[in-house]
Amino acid sequence: MLDLWYSEKWSEDTKFSIKIKEHLYSEQTPFQKIDFFISNEYGRFFTLDGFIMITEKDEFFYHEMITHVPMCTNLNIKKVLVIGGGDGGTVRELTRYSSIEKIDMVEIDERVVRLSQKYLPFTADKLSDSRVTLIFDDGLKFVKNCKNEKYDLIIVDSTDPISVGEGLFTQKFYEDCYRILKTDGILVNQHESPYHENYAKEMKKAHDKIKDIFPISKVYQFHQPTYASGHWLFGFASKKYDPVIDCDTISWNKLGIKTRYYNTDIQKACFALPNYVKKRLGY
Ligand code: SAM
Repeated sequence: MLDLWYSEKWSEDTKFSIKIKEHLYSEQTPFQKIDFFISNEYGRFFTLDGFIMITEKDEFFYHEMITHVPMCTNLNIKKVLVIGGGDGGTVRELTRYSSIEKIDMVEIDERVVRLSQKYLPFTADKLSDSRVTLIFDDGLKFVKNCKNEKYDLIIVDSTDPISVGEGLFTQKFYEDCYRILKTDGILVNQHESPYHENYAKEMKKAHDKIKDIFPISKVYQFHQPTYASGHWLFGFASKKYDPVIDCDTISWNKLGIKTRYYNTDIQKACFALPNYVKKRLGY
């Protein structure tokens, strides 16, 4: 029998492949192509337009780091807006805080949510939490039209700046996020990889825009074995709090949240960047 492999292009001359047991499902939605696979090494995983979004084995790296870093910075966060995040992993981590009262999730493609609920219950099972409101809309349009709501935290859990995700990397989008955040609000966003040129270019563009708008703007790093190069970044921008100086590690540890990747040593260490990354960011 022939081996079946999933392959993804990471740069002009680099590909990453996973041996697959089964191609579970495929669908072209009005927004993107969705595929679900099963593999021995990574368990279940899903892709959008030929790029891995999450795998069962390493999704917790991403979802813990996108959530607990801002939460430890301000433990009084009550109202959160998630943009994208259709697999539900970010919402799952947020629901672990009993202090959070409201989570609005704006996802452009309802099919990602419905199919994740079917095929990826390990990330999607908290989307039915009573504090969660699902809104199926373009995040760019949502923040533009958002007039009365004010959020403590916005998490942009988006695809890359191509196709439907492009608007979530624009100056206008970041300005609207700033406007709908409270006076001590925090924005965290998927910030691409510093390693391959094609991704690093987008990282720098996003950082330059955000630092023009927010008084505090940093990037932090984490490993993601199934994303291009395995080295990935999130952006942290805030109107008031510095994630290294103002984080409340003692109180966070008292909450007793059991994590598999994040800890409060990483809260501080993840903001220390390699020299080549600083150079690529223009520091
Ligand atoms: N961890 C992932 C990664 O970076 O590879 C991101 C996962 S999450 C599945 C990304 C989600 O963002 C997708 O479900 C996609 O439909 C959604 N998305 C992309 N552009 C969007 C937009 N303009 N508004 C709202 N959601 C969007």
